[in-house]
Amino acid sequence: MTTPVPLLRTVPVARGTTAFHFGKPAGFDFKPGQACDLILPGQAGNNGADTRHAFSIVSAPHEDELIFATRMRDSTFKRALAGLQPGATLELDGPFGSLTLHKKAERAAVLIAGGIGITPFMSMVRHAAHSQSTRQLVLLYSNRRPEDAAFLAELQALAAAHAPFRLIATMTDMAHATQPWDGATGTIDGALLQKTASGLNAPVFYVSGPPSMVAALRDTLEAAGIDEDDVRSEAFYGY
Ligand SMILES: Cc1cc2nc3c(=O)[nH]c(=O)nc-3n(C[C@H](O)[C@H](O)[C@H](O)COP(=O)(O)OP(=O)(O)OC[C@H]3O[C@@H](n4cnc5c(N)ncnc54)[C@H](O)[C@@H]3O)c2cc1C
Repeated sequence: MTTPVPLLRTVPVARGTTAFHFGKPAGFDFKPGQACDLILPGQAGNNGADTRHAFSIVSAPHEDELIFATRMRDSTFKRALAGLQPGATLELDGPFGSLTLHKKAERAAVLIAGGIGITPFMSMVRHAAHSQSTRQLVLLYSNRRPEDAAFLAELQALAAAHAPFRLIATMTDMAHATQPWDGATGTIDGALLQKTASGLNAPVFYVSGPPSMVAALRDTLEAAGIDEDDVRSEAFYGY
């Protein structure tokens, strides 16, 4: 069954990247890390790829909005999405998905996001800060340039405010950047993974992003000797 949700507003969150804020229906319950299908107005009975797309929920369960964010590419679905005005009603199918944090909070979590793969982790980090969770949470966030890194300023503020959360953001293409960056550069490699994991209690690794990035990061984790039972991932098919 689908649920109607009103579009409240859209907010640019990085270069070519938009967050869509919807009113949250009463009783709508989800876990940080879950996703929903967004269905264009009037298309609830249509299962075609041009009428519905899966998006991870950016907002945390305590918030009264449901927020999704996406790279605004020139696809049929996204052209239609871009044309919607506040007040438009979309249908929501979900929540679904199992990229949710493990139950044993004494085990650390290392979240590894490639680009727009940050979305499920935003919900987890917002929730952790709001609930004052004591779980060790480290986010490795890779983007080409600072201007591509959605929610970067918010993540930096969350890391400053919530001590168990640590942010390591890295840029892989500063040669083409227009914004300054004095943090890490280069891809996430085995050395960075091992350095990140040392000192953490029995970390579980979560990887999210475009399929090629997820596959490459899973290989890097394996080469770094991380047990595949401790790795969970979600590939954003379509990129
Ligand atoms: C669980 C989940 C969560 C996601 N969360 C996000 C998110 O938070 N933000 C975000 O931007 N994107 C997310 N995605 C990806 C999103 O659903 C779109 O596929 C993506 O945004 C590309 O859409 P597009 O309109 O730009 O390209 P499209 O034109 O729709 O797709 C490009 C190509 O990919 C193919 N394709 C599309 N979907 C699939 C699929 N499911 N399996 C295999 N091939 C496919 C199409 O056939 C086409 O050839 C998520 C996907 C999944 C499965």
